[in-house]
Amino acid sequence: MYKYDPSSSKAEEFINHEEILETLAYADANKDNIALIDEIIEKAKLRKGLTHREASVLLACSDEEKNQEIYALAEQIKKDFYGNRIVMFAPLYLSNYCINGCVYCPYHLKNKHIARKKLTQEEIRREVIALQDMGHKRLALETGEDPVNNPIEYVLESIDTIYGIKHKNGAIRRVNVNIAATTVENYKKLKDAGIGTYILFQETYHKESYEKLHPTGPKHDYAYHTEAMDRAQLGGIDDVGLGVLFGLEMYRYEFAGLLMHAEHLEAVFGVGPHTISVPRIKHADDIDPDAFDNGIDDDIFAKLVACIRIAVPYTGMIISTRESKKCRERVLHLGISQISGGSRTSVGGYAEPEPEEENSAQFDVSDNRTLDEVVRWLMELGYIPSFCTACYREGRTGDRFMSLCKSGQIQNCCHPNALMTLKEYLLDYASPATRAIGDELIVKELQNIPKEHVREIVVKNLAEIEKGNRDFRF
Ligand code: SAM
Repeated sequence: MYKYDPSSSKAEEFINHEEILETLAYADANKDNIALIDEIIEKAKLRKGLTHREASVLLACSDEEKNQEIYALAEQIKKDFYGNRIVMFAPLYLSNYCINGCVYCPYHLKNKHIARKKLTQEEIRREVIALQDMGHKRLALETGEDPVNNPIEYVLESIDTIYGIKHKNGAIRRVNVNIAATTVENYKKLKDAGIGTYILFQETYHKESYEKLHPTGPKHDYAYHTEAMDRAQLGGIDDVGLGVLFGLEMYRYEFAGLLMHAEHLEAVFGVGPHTISVPRIKHADDIDPDAFDNGIDDDIFAKLVACIRIAVPYTGMIISTRESKKCRERVLHLGISQISGGSRTSVGGYAEPEPEEENSAQFDVSDNRTLDEVVRWLMELGYIPSFCTACYREGRTGDRFMSLCKSGQIQNCCHPNALMTLKEYLLDYASPATRAIGDELIVKELQNIPKEHVREIVVKNLAEIEKGNRDFRF
């Protein structure tokens, strides 16, 4: 008998291989069991989520009619919890020095032709000013793992630099961090530095594959990597972001693992992941995505997004510029709540484009549009691009954020914040065409604030923003 225990602190017990295999067998056996699928869909309609077993049945379901119901429900849940807001962010790569051997990542130690770069604090300043001039307020910091070149002190100093830059009306108000698994002590330091979400992709939950895909370096240690979020929580970081790099292993295995990870965090810390990212492997220097056997097509990708949305309704979902405009458009309404725009995956590259003969990028970007183009496109599709960072600045992290989400007060809080931060964006950074669409959208969306007194405050604040004042929030 194997040991599966969501409350265990041991990776191999809360992400249990046998439990995943049984889940997959159960899902396979029931993929045409309409009565069971109906029952699971009914449970999902309560908007309290699904277990990994239940959600795996929906993912495996091959009945076209039921699949349409699954998509419709995902869309409805997304509307109920997140409205039509999409939060904007950009990645900032600080350094691509790395001592790991990850076979899918161009940063791997043996790659001698990638241009190795590490930004100085002065270079970070220039990058951040360029990002502020685009209109970004929220960043995701990225580094390779290299204790000599990118020690925690470097990351902390960089965060300090970033928060300290006030240029025109610009400000980076939330810095999320995606750095390698580290110690409780270092997570405490990141918390004290004022980070938003700590993001770490599991890459794959399949231990044997994980060890092969990470043959050398500290990241080889599956347990240390898989237990990182527990250490982050112990260090005081209660907003953590999960993710799987789709393409490395069988997507149904990863899906079950991802949900088990969420169940584990909920069981131990009383709060599930703040976000889930859904990256797929892309071409990069020295990396051919076709060399990996488990690539998923756009149809499966859409199904995954829908099933994640249904299984963990309170968890934000992030899609990056790894995906094309067309693919992003297809999945936005199925459950995505955050997207990046105008991204560079090179180390530097916002202030000045990277020279062609140098390539320091982590992967090729498929959506090359500017932030202004992405913002306009979202509005044309009926979404509200939001530059809001209020929750974490108001202390609404972890379970406090989740209660806001569950209380249904998002429409009186996040919706107004989205409109006010969009107004700032339109005035400070948007092209005239984008501004025209945005101003119209704001007028229309004001009507969707349920409480009258909240609406009145927003109208007053919008007028203040017109006068040059900034940073209003609920
Ligand atoms: N060094 C940190 C770590 O060890 O997790 C930071 C991760 S890295 C800067 C961000 C993520 O990019 C990785 O976790 C991986 O999932 C993803 N990535 C790496 N190579 C990729 C590729 N070729 N295509 C798409 N995504 C890739």
